[in-house]
Amino acid sequence: MIPFVDLKAQYQSIKAEVDEAVLKTLENCSFVLGPEVAALEKEFAEYSGNTFAIGVNSGTSALHLGLLAAGIGPGDEVITVPHTFIASASAIQYTGAKVVFCDIDPVTFTMDPAALEAAITPRTKAIVPVHLYGQMADMDPIMAIARKHGLIVMEDAAQSHGAEYNGRRAGSIGDVAGFSFYPGKNMGAAGEAGMTVTGNADIDEKVRMLRDWGAKQKYHHEIIGYNMRMEGIQGAVLRVKMKYIEKWTELRREAARRYADLFAGTGVQIPVEVEGRRHVYHVYAIRTPDRQRWIEELTKAGVSTGIHYPFPLHELKAFEFLGYKHGQFPNAEKAAAEVLSLPMFPELTADQQEVVAKAVIRLQQETEANV
Ligand SMILES: *Cc1c(COP(=O)(O)O)cnc(C)c1O
Repeated sequence: MIPFVDLKAQYQSIKAEVDEAVLKTLENCSFVLGPEVAALEKEFAEYSGNTFAIGVNSGTSALHLGLLAAGIGPGDEVITVPHTFIASASAIQYTGAKVVFCDIDPVTFTMDPAALEAAITPRTKAIVPVHLYGQMADMDPIMAIARKHGLIVMEDAAQSHGAEYNGRRAGSIGDVAGFSFYPGKNMGAAGEAGMTVTGNADIDEKVRMLRDWGAKQKYHHEIIGYNMRMEGIQGAVLRVKMKYIEKWTELRREAARRYADLFAGTGVQIPVEVEGRRHVYHVYAIRTPDRQRWIEELTKAGVSTGIHYPFPLHELKAFEFLGYKHGQFPNAEKAAAEVLSLPMFPELTADQQEVVAKAVIRLQQETEANV
């Protein structure tokens, strides 16, 4: 079976370094925050082309604290997209603000700037564009709309470590950004971890307090904060991975080019990498109206697949209370019904990709013959 991601292969390739880093942390007993997390924060801020980075215990916390530190709370509306992982919207809900959805662009699967502008009301306070699958949202028009209406922008960069938009890195364009180091993300911890990134010193200071019980100095609690600190072992493991993230990203991009070559002229709907955007291919999502059958046939052919994501957020039971109806976000709804993720990870081989492509191309021909 060709796996969907191969975390074991990645661990084996850097095992000696990771094991040593973990053991060192165990011996130092710097279990929470500590020198490795502090060093990672510096390295990751620089990697993201920004000034400050704050290590937290998940990508969700990175987004939640980013919004809180930017002053978002009850009475505010925050606009995001329905075609994303639930955390993009849950982080908004946690602050007490109201989640407002706008549709996506059908080609890039990211926020449609025209739909964004149409969703703005006098209560809108912030925008959360999601750099989905590893390709950045269309940030120039989004930032222009935000500036025109005086809105905060928080990038959901959970899937886009090292992605670029006209030469600028994910996490360096908005007021604040949240990254995830969940094990399956492009840069994965040995457990849960995340990072808030910002160029704003006030937001940096506030997130540092919020993640650590609302105190800058032990026991001097100035606000009600949270226990959302990054663990020392995660900092140590992620610092090892920092050395490889660029190499792994290039291998993902190479694998995407190989898929594009294999699928050229076949009618398979492959991801579109927009000119000027460095797509980091966290997910390689193709589209088919005949998805369920394709999944079954690909499984039989030994190819693992995924769906990112099968339901648009506004149609989930958890967000029923927002009162949206089917039909309100047609591009997001169609994407949720059609996207199919193929195996994509740095260690994916050309031989494995040929097996995947052969099976997909046969299904494409069958689907075309049936319509
Ligand atoms: C993974 C993910 C998150 C949440 O990150 P966690 O580290 O799992 O909490 C948020 N947004 C998107 C788009 C994600 O893919």
